Parts: sequence; C-alpha cells; structure tokens
Amino acid sequence: MFNSLSDRLTSTFKNLRTRGRLSEADIDATVREIRRALLDADVAVPVVREFTGAVRERALSSEVSGALNPAQQVVKIVNEELVAILGGATRPLTLAKTPPTVIMLAGLQGAGKTTLAGKLAHALKGQGHTPLLVAADLQRPNAVTQLSVVAERAGVPVFAPHPGNTSAADDPAADAPLIGDPVGVARDGVAFAKERQHDVVIVDTAGRLGIDEVLMQQAADIRAAVNPDEVLFVIDAMIGQDAVNTAKAFADGVDFTGVVLSKLDGDARGGAALSVAKVTGRPIMFASTGEKLTDFEVFHPDRMASRILDMGDVLTLIEQAEKAFDAGEAEKMAGKLASGQDFTLADFLVQMQQLKNMGSMKKMLGMLPGMAQMRDQLDQFDEREVGRIEAIIHSMTPAERDNPKIINGSRRARIAKGAGTTTTAINQLLERFDNAQKMMKQMAKGGGMGPGGMPAM
Ligand code: GDP
Repeated sequence: MFNSLSDRLTSTFKNLRTRGRLSEADIDATVREIRRALLDADVAVPVVREFTGAVRERALSSEVSGALNPAQQVVKIVNEELVAILGGATRPLTLAKTPPTVIMLAGLQGAGKTTLAGKLAHALKGQGHTPLLVAADLQRPNAVTQLSVVAERAGVPVFAPHPGNTSAADDPAADAPLIGDPVGVARDGVAFAKERQHDVVIVDTAGRLGIDEVLMQQAADIRAAVNPDEVLFVIDAMIGQDAVNTAKAFADGVDFTGVVLSKLDGDARGGAALSVAKVTGRPIMFASTGEKLTDFEVFHPDRMASRILDMGDVLTLIEQAEKAFDAGEAEKMAGKLASGQDFTLADFLVQMQQLKNMGSMKKMLGMLPGMAQMRDQLDQFDEREVGRIEAIIHSMTPAERDNPKIINGSRRARIAKGAGTTTTAINQLLERFDNAQKMMKQMAKGGGMGPGGMPAM
C-alpha cells in the first residue's frame, strides 16, 4: 500500500535528520523531493501544488525555526497536511433514523463494487445489522450471479431478478421484476427490505469500462428512485491519473457522499486515489485491500498518513486483533495460567489459529512503525509458516501436546514424517514453544493476559 511513496518520503526525511538547523535552502530541497515523490506516485498536480505550498509555508515559519528538533517538526507538518488532503477526520457511515439505511454503490466496471458489497455486508452483519444486497447491476450477464456468490460468502440474503436469485426467487411475495430494469430492481429491493425488516440495503449498480452518459443517467435514476442515505463511489486505486477525472465525472453525474478506495493491496502508485478526497471534497470512507471478505477497513485519514510516513498503524492492528481473538478463549487461557497450569502446545495451536483469523501476517507486520526500512525482509515472510506449525502440532498425540518433554528422538521422527517436514523443524518449534511457555508464565505472574495476548513467535 503506497509502498514506493512511503519509501521516497521516509528517505527524504532521513536526509533531513542529518541536519541540525534548517536553512531555507534545506527546506526548499526537501519540499522539492516531496513534490517529486508525490508526482511520481500519481498524486494530481493541483493537489501536489497545494500540499507542497502549505508544507513550505509552515516549514519556513517559526513553528519550525523555534522547534527543538526542526527535522521532526517538518515531518509533523507533512503528516498533518497529509491527513488534511486525505479528508481530515474519519467519516463514519450514516445510518438512517428510520431503517432501512440505503447504501448505493457506484463506479466503473471492475472497480470492485460487487466485492465491496460483500465486504460491507459482512462487516455490518458482524455489528449486528441485517443487511440485504440488491443486484441492480443488470449490465453484465454475470453480475447477478457474482453478487449472489458474494452474498452467500458473507452470509447475507440477496434480492435479485432471475437468475441467480437466492432469497427473493423462492419467495412468492417478492415479485422480482424483469431483467433490464435496474431502477425497478433497486426500488423493489428497498421495498422488500422494508417489508422484511432488513435494516440496511446495499444496492450494487452497473459500471462500464469508461464513463458514459447512459451509465451515468442510469445511476442517477437509481439514486432518484431509492433516495440513498449514502452513495459510495468505488475507485480502483490502481487506475492512475484517470482516477481524478473519473471521480469528477461521477461527482457531476451521480454525486456521491463518500469514496471507497479499492485494491489498495496492489503495488500501484496509488497517489491518484489519494487526490480524490481533495478534488471532489468527499471523504474517503473505506479501503478494500484484497479479494477476501475480511480485506476491508474503515479509512482513517490520520492512520493512513501515519502508514505512508512509516510511523505505523498500531491502532488498526489492535482493532484487528480484537476482532479476531475470541474473548472467551482468551479468558479461559488467562484463568488457566492464573491457576498455575502450564501453557501447552494445544493452547499454542488455538492461538495460532486465532492469529490466522487476523488475516495476512505480512499485512499486519506492515502496520508496525519502521517497516518501510524492512520491506525486503517483510517481502520474504512466508505466510505458509503458520500452516506448517499447525501441521506439526496436529501430528502430535494429545499427550505430547500436553507435555512436550516426552518428545524423544523417535517421536520427533514420527511427528516430522506426519507433518511432512524435518526433525530440525520440530526442534525449532519446540524451542520457540519453550520460550513462549516461559513468557506465558511470566505474564501470568504479572497479572494475566488480555485478549490480545499471544506468545512471541
Ligand atoms: P465491479 O465490476 O465494480 O463489481 O468489480 P468486482 O467487485 O467484480 O471486482 C473486479 C475484480 O477486482 C475482481 O476480480 C475482484 O476479485 C477484484 N478486486 C476487488 N476488490 C479488490 C481488492 O481490494 N484487491 C484486489 N487485489 N482485488 C480486488
């Protein structure tokens, strides 16, 4: 996510840190480097101009010359200005006072709308809502089926015209309209949600490969028909400079209340997407970071700025841990340790599985401060490691999991064979586990363990 921009900016600051007091020339050189980094990352020219202008002005003021550490002060200014172009404060989803809340998705074909519909529904369901997906994308033959697949994965119903109609089809009350009338489908979908007391309706609409009048009119008609509480414009972060023009066209044609940046997991420069909030005056509300349902985050401008400047995003990391870790399990574990019982390999396995629930280790590690400098090591991180450890623990007997001390040479060979690995790997794991166990004992002594507690690996 914004890797090359992040690398460029952090190296600019590194150069700056080697100086004590900053002259006007130092500041100009820094601002020039920042400008180049932003332009190379595809940030829109007017946005770059405004950004660097603000940074320069503030960097030349007493704010910096009077500071104890001028270089650090410049980084702070860049951070604040970055938060500002990303939209300032986090903008939560607006929920309707009288349900259902209607959320309409708009954007080009392939932007990631359908995928997002599933992610959003999944997240809302997790918060106790009862979302319904409405398939008003009748342009692509496959779109309705695709939305149904996504809905099934997210465990939410979908209202769709035939075919691909999973819930409405077998329901005589749901008089699904004919294919070809997306406005009708959207309107009926919302009516159906009201009747069935779904408190959120997510309307997926059609996109074309390029902006066109018919598409824009259709989206505007759907908007007029369902009067949404939110219109989310989904934009592929990888489309480069076109992002700004596309966003402007949608702002004029349909208007939207918020932006979703999708495919932020890609290596693309992504800067164009960073310009969208500034250019359209609409906040970025969510980020999509992969193809899985859980690759989805609320967009926090301050945290994103922090990630770009390699200051880490520990808050997001903690939130993901809280979501993935089962509080019941953690309590059981804490109770067990507090009563003086050993942390066993079986417990270790449970923790590994919870760790896996948090998603990609690489993504999580990437949220730690200072990771831009370790990008190479991070790229070498093998996600399969967690699976390998699981396989080893699975090929142990319950007695071995409870008391690894009984694992002698012949047991090691048997376990290695069962897990399809070497005895060296078994030894390494047992050693790591031994360390983890010691640490757990210390933590138990130190007053227990919260839901985020996990052994060092
Ligand atoms: P739509 O035409 O706007 O509905 O776009 P889709 O939801 O069908 O997405 C187009 C393609 O992009 C699909 O292959 C998705 O799997 C993929 N995709 C969507 N969101 C993301 C994302 O955040 N990251 C990645 N890597 N792929 C995505």
